[in-house]
Amino acid sequence: MDNKAKIKEIFSSIQGEGLYIGCKQIFIRFCACNLQCCYCDTDYYPTNINDKNTYFEFTPEELAEYIKNNFDIKSTHSISLTGGEPLIWVDFLKEFMPMIDIKYYLETNATIDDNAKIILPYTDIIAGDVKLPSCSGIENAFDLHDKFFSVVSSTLGKNKIPFSINNNNFFAKVVFDDNILEEEIINTINLAKKYNFEIILQPRMIENKPAINSDIMMQTFEKFVKDYKYVRLIPQVHKFIDVE
Ligand code: SF4
Repeated sequence: MDNKAKIKEIFSSIQGEGLYIGCKQIFIRFCACNLQCCYCDTDYYPTNINDKNTYFEFTPEELAEYIKNNFDIKSTHSISLTGGEPLIWVDFLKEFMPMIDIKYYLETNATIDDNAKIILPYTDIIAGDVKLPSCSGIENAFDLHDKFFSVVSSTLGKNKIPFSINNNNFFAKVVFDDNILEEEIINTINLAKKYNFEIILQPRMIENKPAINSDIMMQTFEKFVKDYKYVRLIPQVHKFIDVE
């Protein structure tokens, strides 16, 4: 059977979140996700699985050819594997990733450690989520995040913080709103200390505006940095400048 992946879209743009904000990337948005966050605004499902016009299907060879023929790899910082949840397509990725000589930036919900293990040798940067139940509606993800970052840190080695753009790196993106709980702050900081990663606090957005009172946003930020200084508050920049 062909090793094909379902892909919603492929485009070049700037990274709008996290530590590599502003870098030029080729985004490959994979279909499907293993979670259902209540704030998800990503269109990652084919509108109609029988309608091939609503998604693409590629073998690893076909995708590598498509990327090489349609994008300027030399001027591109990295390929962002995003979704949906790209780790669902691990069999595809382990064949595809070595086919293009470029850095790979994995955007993941950080819940599928077994699959991560398989493609970490080809992965340069990991932007992993920490899902707060109060904002995402996802309960009990912390145990999965713990396993995920354990695998990442034991494979990529001790992370270097503060962040340097030349290093292999992994960090965690934490989407939050007014409902964030003290317990969630403590759990997130403990995870970051355990695996030595930076925390990117990202206010939940609704229609391109932070869905959080700015006083509470700053109070939350202060609570984090009081106990752990490697924390940055960064909104989704691409939404302000109206790019994909
Ligand atoms: S993990 Fe990401 S893509 Fe999946 S439902 Fe949550 S926000 Fe959406």
